[in-house]
This record gives sequence, structure tokens and C-alpha cells, in this order.
Amino acid sequence: MKTHRVLLFVSFIIVLTLSFNISAYSQSPSNSFVIMIDPGHGGRDSGTPGTGRYKSTEKDIALDVSLALGKMIKEQLANVTIVYTRDKDIFPTLKGRTELANKKDVDLFISIHCNAQPGKKGTAYGSETYVLGTTKNKQNLEVAKRENSVIALEDDTEVYKGFNSNSSEFILGLELAQEAYLDHSIKLARYIEDEFQIIGKRRSRGVKQNIFYVLAYTYMPSVLVELGFLTHKKEEDFLNSKKGKNIMTKSLFNAVKKYLKYLSINTDNTTLVEDNEKTIAFSQNIKFKVQIAASSRVLETKPYNFKGLQDISRLKDGHIYKYFYGATSSYDKIKELEAEAAKKGYTSSFIVAFKNGKKIALMDALKTATN
Ligand SMILES: [Zn+2]
Repeated sequence: MKTHRVLLFVSFIIVLTLSFNISAYSQSPSNSFVIMIDPGHGGRDSGTPGTGRYKSTEKDIALDVSLALGKMIKEQLANVTIVYTRDKDIFPTLKGRTELANKKDVDLFISIHCNAQPGKKGTAYGSETYVLGTTKNKQNLEVAKRENSVIALEDDTEVYKGFNSNSSEFILGLELAQEAYLDHSIKLARYIEDEFQIIGKRRSRGVKQNIFYVLAYTYMPSVLVELGFLTHKKEEDFLNSKKGKNIMTKSLFNAVKKYLKYLSINTDNTTLVEDNEKTIAFSQNIKFKVQIAASSRVLETKPYNFKGLQDISRLKDGHIYKYFYGATSSYDKIKELEAEAAKKGYTSSFIVAFKNGKKIALMDALKTATN
């Protein structure tokens, strides 16, 4: 009878350990940062035809650069998931694109387009990156009119009845809804335009604000990139060339990488965080952190947001963001940091463990650590 009980206890422990492991693994996909890439236009909506010297139009260049960007991110950045609004020559509606982004719980939305100058002059050239906002600039309004005009090509134009970028009331409502994401959108837009200049030696026309449908209805940081003008002969040649597409892709990639770094999201393929304690004898791929807060809001990991605590990192888990203080392989050290966090007012904080960037049960980490 006694052995029976012992056996029962042992199997209970085994089940417990197993379920810890399962929950650790099932957590990993949701920890990943999700980027949705939106190649503009597609299918029967070709976008701007440019000068007409090429068979390919805006939709083709947008798709090529989008797919190349997604591939580069997948290959080089860890903890990032890529989804597309389209990955072939099809025609998703603007509403369909934004709904997909919201449904997929996307963290960042990047729409890729090419520009066109009205009339026959073909003198305008350079890149522009847009975030949501009002503009009184006539040229910018033209761009918005063109990119939103696809609505007229859609079968069910009824759904866009409320979308009136001329109404100041409507715009105010949009801006309020987007306020939480705007600073992040601007940050990325700035990085993109900088990289176009640094890597591509392109002419940047700057970061601009405008009422684009896909920016207005995506509830996350979002930007719309105009790679260049297809109505400008030289720029059209560049954007149709393999070299040109590579340069634009690499610039966008660098900007995304900078943005993730700014958010303190670890995209390193090899280790989770830098180890500044070389004395640790046990498995160096185990890291302890103090979880101090969880929120649906994205907060910058700056000391002023966390009662002066430094070395804050953030992780997205499902719909919420978890905030951690410290990162060390030493359990003793993390106990000290936990006490320090409590002193600052984070009294319900607790220690969590990561192995190779994935959250694992604390018990498992301690087992490995003491081995
Ligand atoms: Zn476009």
C-alpha cells in the first residue's frame, strides 16, 4: 500500500513536470513579435502604371519588395513572425486587409507602395513614409486620394460609407483611436526614411501624415511606404531593377531591426541577452528575470515608466505585454533584484526563467542551474 502511494506521488510529479514543459512550449509562438507586410494593390487593381514603359506596375514591385523583406526577416531575425495580406497577385479589399491585421493580433503593420505624380511632368522623385494624421498639404492629399481610390474598384463599396477623410469630426475620432500607436509609427517611419538615405542613397521626401484607410483601421503601429515615383523615369528604372529592389528591401529590413531594438525585443538568433556575469558556472543559457507588471498597453522600457528601475525588458504573451526587471543567470542575484523591485513598490512581482529565450518553469530552470 505504501509503495502504491509513493508511486502515485511520483507519477503526480512526472505529470506536473510534463505539464510545465508543455505550457512552456505552447507559450513560445505567442511570444513572437508579429509583423504584417501589406503589398499594396494586387489583382485587378494594378496601382500606378508609371510611365508605361514597363509591363510591371506598382502592384508587382510592391509584392516583390514585400516578399523579399519578409524572407529576409524570417531568415535573420529570431522571435519574429511574418504574415502577409497577400503573397501573390490577388485583390484583397482594404477592409479585408485591416480586419486580418486586427484579427491576427499583429504588432506592426507595413504597407508597401510606389508613388505617382499626376500629370505628365514626371519630375517628382524620392521616397515618402506615411503615418496616420491630417494634412493640409495638397500634394499629400493627392497621394491619399490615389491610394484610397481602390475603394471604387471594390465590389462592396457600401462598407466605406463612413470613411470620409474630408470630415474633421471623423478625422478627430480616428486620431484619438490611433493616439496610442502614433509615436511608435513615427519612430519606424523615421528609421525607414533614414535607411533609404543611408543604404540606398535615395532622396527622402520625409515622414508625412495622411488619412490612409489601411493606417486608420489597423489598431497597432502602422506605416505606409512609398518606395519612389514610377512616373519618374530614372526612379522607375531603379525600382524595376533587381539591384533597386534589393536596396529598398535591405533598407526596410534595417529599419525594422532598429525599431525592434528600440522596443527592446530580442531578435538575436543565438542568445537571449548579454551575459555580464562571467562567473556563472552553470548553464549560461538560463536567464532569470523579475516579472514586475503585465498590461495590455505597450510601454517603452524606460526607467520613468517603471519607478526608476533600469534594465527593463518586455515580452508579448497573447494579448498582454509582460514587463521584466533584470536579466541574470544567477538565482541569488535575481532574488536581490526581486527585493529591490518590491522596495520600489512592485510587491507582487515574481521570478521567471528563460532558456534560450523561451520561458520555462522556474522549477526546471533551478534544476538545470544547480546541476
Ligand atoms: Zn499604392
